[in-house]
Amino acid sequence: MPIGEFDLIAQYFAGLTPDRDDIRLGIGDDAAVVSVPPGQELVIAVDTLVAGVHFPAGTDPRAIGHKALAVNLSDLAAMGAEPAWALLALTLPEADEAWLAAFAAGFGRLARDSEIALIGGDTTRGPLSVTVTVHGRVPEGQALTRSGARPGDAIYISGGLGAAAAALASSDSPADSEARQACRARLDYPEPRLALGQALCGLASAAIDISDGLLADLGHLCRSSSAGAEIDVDAVPRHPALTQLVTGDDVAWYDWPLAGGDDYELCFTVSGEKEPKINMLTETLGIALTRIGRITAGEGLVLQHADGGGYQAHGKGYQHFAPQS
Ligand code: ADP
Ligand code: MG
Repeated sequence: MPIGEFDLIAQYFAGLTPDRDDIRLGIGDDAAVVSVPPGQELVIAVDTLVAGVHFPAGTDPRAIGHKALAVNLSDLAAMGAEPAWALLALTLPEADEAWLAAFAAGFGRLARDSEIALIGGDTTRGPLSVTVTVHGRVPEGQALTRSGARPGDAIYISGGLGAAAAALASSDSPADSEARQACRARLDYPEPRLALGQALCGLASAAIDISDGLLADLGHLCRSSSAGAEIDVDAVPRHPALTQLVTGDDVAWYDWPLAGGDDYELCFTVSGEKEPKINMLTETLGIALTRIGRITAGEGLVLQHADGGGYQAHGKGYQHFAPQS
């Protein structure tokens, strides 16, 4: 007999994630009740993953569970917030228990690692779609935003870009080499930069997470800050798995890191006097932080090679309701 809605919630989602002492009421009532300590503010984000749009059909359900939470945690990371509570709205074509078990395992693992508790949700039947809402906390007035970048600030990127885009471009062929598998892992299991985001509070002037591609997301940051940017396209850090697949002679060498998307790294800006602290962060957090350019008083992004020559991007990043170039 197929499992009913309430048994499904009890079996796969109640008790999946850590209990926290700031939860007065979790799963099981009409709504959850949580307490926010004095002096702290809530930071809230929601993201939906739709089958065939945000993940290729046939993606491992464990990866879907991980990614649905990871993309939301990445938004909290970009705001410098510490994760606390999540809601999960799940629309399923059928109650396939093997699918649910794997999905819950992927979601639960990342939730435990990032100390976020699942406190409620909604379960409905329909085409597969997963919506997660996350709540995080920051000390009052300390949230990082997109709007604080000033001309002269340095622009930094965490980690390396382009590997997820490489995996997406070949998602219907088997990942038949170590490099392809590593790219696929970046697409399926993004790692939100939570510790970095929190460390950047009071240090970065602005921040954004890279979900739609560096150029698109840095463009958002610049518009919010009423500024422009100069980028050295050769300084943009490529993910090691990407550098095993393509070289500087390949158009993908530039396109995937600049416009591919699904990286979930942080792009942030720092004023000159605070830059030395960034180098210290690289050591304490063990994450590569690479300077790729600077904020200008102009408008838009100027892309240059290290030798000063101009670079014309091919792609501009992912947009849902626009034709892809
Ligand atoms: P209501 O009908 O009052 O909206 P539901 O029957 O939808 O409540 O849900 C019952 C309880 O189970 C609620 O506490 C809700 O937050 C929780 N819940 C429902 N679906 C999920 C899910 N997929 N994950 C976690 N909690 C869920
Ligand atoms: Mg109700």
